[in-house]
Amino acid sequence: MPAPATLTIDLNALAANFRTLEAVGGAPVHPVVKADSYGLGAAACAARLMAEGARTFFVARTSEGERLRAALGQTPTIYVLDGCLAGRAARLRTAGLKPVLNTGAQLAEWRAAGGGGSGLQIDTGMNRLGFRVEEAPEPFEGLDLVLSHLACADDPVEPMNARQRDAFAAAAARYPGTVRSFANSGGAFLGPDYAFDALRPGVCLYGGGPEGRPDDRIRPVATLTAEVLQVREVPAGESVGYSRGFVARGSTRIATCAAGYADGVLRAYSPKGLVHIAGELRPIVGRVSMDVCAVDATGLDVAVGDRIELFGVNRMVDDAAAAAGTIAYELLTSVTARIPRVYT
Ligand SMILES: *Cc1c(COP(=O)(O)O)cnc(C)c1O
Repeated sequence: MPAPATLTIDLNALAANFRTLEAVGGAPVHPVVKADSYGLGAAACAARLMAEGARTFFVARTSEGERLRAALGQTPTIYVLDGCLAGRAARLRTAGLKPVLNTGAQLAEWRAAGGGGSGLQIDTGMNRLGFRVEEAPEPFEGLDLVLSHLACADDPVEPMNARQRDAFAAAAARYPGTVRSFANSGGAFLGPDYAFDALRPGVCLYGGGPEGRPDDRIRPVATLTAEVLQVREVPAGESVGYSRGFVARGSTRIATCAAGYADGVLRAYSPKGLVHIAGELRPIVGRVSMDVCAVDATGLDVAVGDRIELFGVNRMVDDAAAAAGTIAYELLTSVTARIPRVYT
């Protein structure tokens, strides 16, 4: 029996998106598997991506890198985007992780601990992490990769993209012989002059479109389903859920489903969120509660034990996210530990 709510991950679709990104982007893909592969499970996703040929991965935190190293063994290269935080060098070295050095202090910390394999982040305008172009360090021993990150890659007409690309090309030229990595998911679709030596996509691997909306070239990977726990006919004038969040105008069939905000079904799903139920898209009505949500199933043939889909193959994650006022990244990473991940 499947659990009342499950996140099903189609590893073949993940692999297909990996191949698409390499083909479209025209450079090897170094998958970003931070935040447990955007909630899909980094150990399983990275293992499958290794089978497709990936050999270099990016995580955000040292702890994520340690877990990934334990799962994948010594073969792959793992970069930590946080870099080398104070007192963290020993852990990085023990797990064989390469910090992406973001500041002079991080570079000094890493060197003091013996240095070695590392990356370098150049900030070309996002003003988030990394050395400003004019403060970028001299080439140093152990520097294997230089990267920068696009602020607006999901918007192909944004002029900042080309400015960042040109700034990166100039800055990276100071480090001959290092791998240059620039494009995230959106960047992989911006054209060959954005590819450099290695792509660094996340969300498109996991089924999000490069421009924040469904894209024919990207296959859905994660499907969140929940079981119908109870079906009832609510007479006109009665309300559903906390705070009378929904009042039935006419007789309304309500399917109460086993997914709530403690599973990652954001309260913001209502009132605009649609779910796939009995072959149709129907609204979530009333307030999402901790363990359940209510779906308007009027006129549908729905029974206890049927499953609804919150996002996935029938309801694209970008559309589900937009209806909740957010982005696929947040929807995927919001799926909580209570939901078993099932791999197909
Ligand atoms: C998260 C992240 C990525 C991946 O971005 P997507 O938009 O998911 O493809 C790439 N590079 C850096 C530095 C990141 O933080």
